[in-house]
Amino acid sequence: MAKMIVGGEHVAARDGAVMEIHNPATGEVVDTVPRASVEDVRQAVDVAYEAWRKWAETSAAKRAEVLYKTAELVRENIKEIATLETKEQGKTLRESQIECSRFAENLEYYAGLANKIRGEYVPLAEHDKYGLVVKQPVGVCAAIVPWNFPVSLMGNKIAPALVAGNSMVVKPASTTPLAAIRLVQLFHDAGLPAGVLNIVTGPGGVVGEELLVNPKVRKIAFTGETVTGKHVMEVAAREVKRVTLELGGSDPMIVCDDADLDAAASAASVGRFFNCGQACLAVKRLYLFDSIADTFLEKFLPKVERLKVGNGLSPDVRTGPLHTAKQREEVEEMVQEAIAGGAKPLAGAKRPEGEEYAKGNFYLPTVLVDVPPDARIVREECFGPALPVFRVKDLDDAIAQANDSQYGLGSSIWTNNIAKAREAAERIEAGYTWINNLHVAYDELPFGGFKQSGYGKEHGVEALDYYMESKSIVIATP
Ligand code: NDP
Repeated sequence: MAKMIVGGEHVAARDGAVMEIHNPATGEVVDTVPRASVEDVRQAVDVAYEAWRKWAETSAAKRAEVLYKTAELVRENIKEIATLETKEQGKTLRESQIECSRFAENLEYYAGLANKIRGEYVPLAEHDKYGLVVKQPVGVCAAIVPWNFPVSLMGNKIAPALVAGNSMVVKPASTTPLAAIRLVQLFHDAGLPAGVLNIVTGPGGVVGEELLVNPKVRKIAFTGETVTGKHVMEVAAREVKRVTLELGGSDPMIVCDDADLDAAASAASVGRFFNCGQACLAVKRLYLFDSIADTFLEKFLPKVERLKVGNGLSPDVRTGPLHTAKQREEVEEMVQEAIAGGAKPLAGAKRPEGEEYAKGNFYLPTVLVDVPPDARIVREECFGPALPVFRVKDLDDAIAQANDSQYGLGSSIWTNNIAKAREAAERIEAGYTWINNLHVAYDELPFGGFKQSGYGKEHGVEALDYYMESKSIVIATP
């Protein structure tokens, strides 16, 4: 059994309760983890509260050193951690390895910023006085992490939090705690003092809720569904806790008539079907200029048909299963509802057949045209391998349709005309616009949604601001 890590120790739940972790490709039990109670969570928060002041007073150089060393250990153990992630999450081994590498890079990025956090000297109107603005850590932070990128989305929270001098309690998704626990152990192997980083496993309704209401937790960093995020914000508001929310998305990709269609077709295929479509930044609506739509589809569809579906541990597999049976049902329902409303499938729209698929949550990569604009697959977030494709008459039409969404996370535009692309990027209501580039988040750039896709930023120097308070000090000459 894998255990939680609290105060540097591997611990079970006090009452001994456990949860099973299942492999989405085979249904087999991979391992069990503790099912924590509210008392277990309180203890972890108390331990983090005890630890944070000492960590805050630790030199920036030492904090950076721990993160650099952890990154090194992640790379040394990458095969083992990635295999664990593939078994619990379902994604391909290659995808898990990419994610673990990104985790290490993210730690290094923030380690590099540790000694660059600065305050300000501020002259005041009264000449015998001056002001200082100093940056202080917030205190105990909670990281609530979803199952789709259990490694990198955890890293996005831990790295800036620790660099800024906070302590943290991580709550991984109930179905993907194993790689997360292993990584938290590596921080300790790298020299992180006990209690600074803790991980508690258990249901969102118990572990997550206690983190939201516990008065010693001063900041919540949440990634997950928009509905859960709204709840997090409401509950956190009662204690005026700081929150950052990275929520759902329905990213539009616009392909203009002057675009490099080969590059765009590849990006649409990777952008929609990476991680079996279970990415917040996935391409979820594709808008093609009418004049190139047929040529684009001739290039795009064979790429989709070639994506081999199967157990992510097999080297030739490109798309693993959906994470849970419920997740697959939701995608199936959205696809079937769209078809009932007049949509036509050009690829997939069903489960793959054969013995090897019998026990996993597999679904074929799906492409739909003639989708009614009010279908759920367009209006809501489709978290799986299904892509609605639309024809648009010009850029104004494309941008109007792209913006007609409650979400505003990512977006892309494909054109050889950079002036046109830049203008479009300013008009599209989303936290990220890629011009002729795959939908991927960069460590160096702030990442976070507009509208109902979230609040606050991860990545970039900006993320540090969400883990620090600005404190004003006035000094008068005696
Ligand atoms: P959920 O909102 O269901 O769960 C996310 C996390 O919140 C899990 O750890 C979950 O625990 C926990 N949780 C559930 N209920 C509560 C509660 N009442 N209080 C506190 N915590 C709770 O999201 P999913 O796991 O389904 O994740 C997929 C979603 O995440 C998608 O909508 C996707 O778009 C979004 N996402 C957003 C990203 C972004 O950066 N904008 C990036 C990646 C994903 P448990 O597992 O125990 O239920």
